[in-house]
This record gives sequence, structure tokens and C-alpha cells, in this order.
Amino acid sequence: MPKNQARAFTRPSASLIAGISALVVAAAGATSVGAQAVDGSRESSQVATQKAEDNGMHAGTDGLGPYLTRDGKPIQVSRGNGRAALNELRQARLEAAAERQVVERKKALSKLAALAEERADELKLEEWVLPISGYDITATFGASSSLWSTTHTGLDFAATYGTPVASVATGIVTEVGSAGAYGNRVIVTHEDGSETWYCHLDSYTVSTGDQVSPGTQVGAVGMSGNTTGPHLHFEVRPSPDVPVDPYGVLAEHGLEP
Ligand SMILES: [Zn+2]
Repeated sequence: MPKNQARAFTRPSASLIAGISALVVAAAGATSVGAQAVDGSRESSQVATQKAEDNGMHAGTDGLGPYLTRDGKPIQVSRGNGRAALNELRQARLEAAAERQVVERKKALSKLAALAEERADELKLEEWVLPISGYDITATFGASSSLWSTTHTGLDFAATYGTPVASVATGIVTEVGSAGAYGNRVIVTHEDGSETWYCHLDSYTVSTGDQVSPGTQVGAVGMSGNTTGPHLHFEVRPSPDVPVDPYGVLAEHGLEP
């Protein structure tokens, strides 16, 4: 994928899956409606045929058109075997309704399959990558240390000085600069408003406003800020003031740091 490629980006989330699930439910709902239609046909069939009998009419014609068997042959009815013919008629109508129901369900399912395929393509495009390779995890989210004023708000990837650091996902660089204890920091903002932070960098390879893709290098591992050795301090913030455990978010994207 070309660097800085401009395109609409979507952070895959559970909501996509929920959306697909909802469609499955919708398809199931359509089936239920079909089942009701079967019952409805039975009722109207009974009413119509009762009327036909009351009026002494030929049961095969009631003004709604000739009834056909499954094979498309008209149902022949005589007064002599009217009851059997009516049963056959009802059966034919039920079968026709059931067939319509099957067709509708097949339509709904194929539509759903196409949508799921489309979503799968989007998810593939939005595949995340780890921010670094060749590392050791040296501190996890929530850990306590005299190094931090509060508990640890990110995930530490210890790596050789100068190791490339990459954006994990598509986004826009919204901050590049020195940030106290964080040292040299790059912030990437993603379409859903969440941020990923890349801290203690030695150098930057992006500027504010740059578009990045998963794997686009944003800088190199360093020792700037509050650190005892070269490492990447990586944070995930669904909103700017709320860091969450990056391990869990990476795992959601199929990554296991
Ligand atoms: Zn850290």
C-alpha cells in the first residue's frame, strides 16, 4: 500500500460484527414473516373455499383466478369429490407459499453473504500491525513503578536504539513533539477519534497532518523523556484523556505482542 494513500478509513470494531449479526436476525425475521404468510394463506383459503361452497360455486374459481397444482396444472374440481379437491387446493396454496418463503430466504441470505464478503474486504484493509518488531515487553498497562506518577498508561516495547516505530493503523498524525515524561512523541488520530501514542522516540519520520497507513514508519526508538533504557512506550486512547490497555486492543485486531 502506498505511503500516505488517501482513502476513507474505518477502524474495524465489534459494531461491524454486530451489524452483520443484526442482518442475520433481519433475515431470520423475514423468514418469520414468510411463516405468517403461510398461516394467512391457509386462513384466506378456508374463507374463500367456504364462500365458494355456500354459493354453490365451482371451488376451483372464486374470482381470484384458477388454482394451479405444483406442476402448474389447473385443479379440476367437481361437486362429487369437493372435499378432497379443497384439501388439494389448500395443500397447493400452502406449498406455493412455502416455496415463495424459501425463495425469499435464499435472496436474503445471498444478500447477506455478499455484504459479509464486502465487510471482510474492509476488515482486511484495516488490518492493524504491531508498532515495532524485535522487542521485549518490559512493562504492561496498569503496572506500578516509581518511574510513573500514576500507574503505567501504556505498553513498553524495549528494542535497540534506532529501531523503526510504525503506526499500527490508518490515521492522521495530529501531534509531533517533545512532551515531558513522554519524551519525543507522535500521536496518530484514527477515524473513530481514538489516538495511538508513540513515545520516547529518538527521531521522527512524519510531520503533523501526514496520513499514515498500518506500518508507516513514524519515528525511531530512543531514550527521550522519562526512561531507563531505549524502548517504545505505546498507548491507545479511545478518547484523548482515557488510556486503555493496548494489549487488549491489539488482541482485538488479531495481534499478540
Ligand atoms: Zn511506558
